[in-house]
Amino acid sequence: MSWRALIVTAHPDDLEFAAGGTVARWADQGAEVTVCVATDGSSGTQDRELMGKRLQQVRVQETEAAAAVLGVAHVEWLGYKDAAVEYTMDLRRDLSRVFRKFRPHRLGAMDPTPIVDGWFINHPDHRAIGQATLDACVTGGTTPNIFPELLEEGLEPWRGLIELWIAGPQQGPEVVDIGDTIDRKIDALLCHKSQVGEDREQMTTWIKEWAARAGEPHGLGFAETFRVLRAGPGFHAGEQDEVDFTPGAPPDPRA
Ligand SMILES: [Zn+2]
Repeated sequence: MSWRALIVTAHPDDLEFAAGGTVARWADQGAEVTVCVATDGSSGTQDRELMGKRLQQVRVQETEAAAAVLGVAHVEWLGYKDAAVEYTMDLRRDLSRVFRKFRPHRLGAMDPTPIVDGWFINHPDHRAIGQATLDACVTGGTTPNIFPELLEEGLEPWRGLIELWIAGPQQGPEVVDIGDTIDRKIDALLCHKSQVGEDREQMTTWIKEWAARAGEPHGLGFAETFRVLRAGPGFHAGEQDEVDFTPGAPPDPRA
């Protein structure tokens, strides 16, 4: 059967930086990919003419364009104010709602654990949203009496998660060869003009350097890496669909 991926991110360009090549591969393999962007992206500028509502509108257009490049089927917006996200039960409920609605076989989340990692400060939105995403898998996404109001919306618990992919900022042990999709990753990133500008040559150099560094220890030209969970709390053996994640597997025409 065809399979579903849901990736929950904080900001409109997070997916492309962390996992653009991987998600393009999933789409190529026939996955139905949804990206949930939790914030409105309205704060990502130093330009006072652009910040706020205008930037929010620009970022919707940029994100839709990038999604089309990667083969993402649907972008779901939660509309939290950019750079002001706190961990609340409302946030966990909203992510539980998305989890129940899109019923992912594969879920992508941002790693909430580091605050400082080498030179990298993990954005507070990443930490709050990453944590709430993981928590939704083991609480409100899968259990009827946690947020029972979701039942009234017609959203049953989803207990068919098979893999949980956690991205960055550190390298993870799960390595994806993005040699075939790195150009689309770069094209998708360049859709986010308000964030990355329009210098294709510089973007290509940066992204290829990063991807080469990730791939080199594994003998790959270009890679993205993750931590992947396949068992434990949040996974329910016997309630999962039979899904073939094998790279290159063609979509089942009967699905
Ligand atoms: Zn971000």
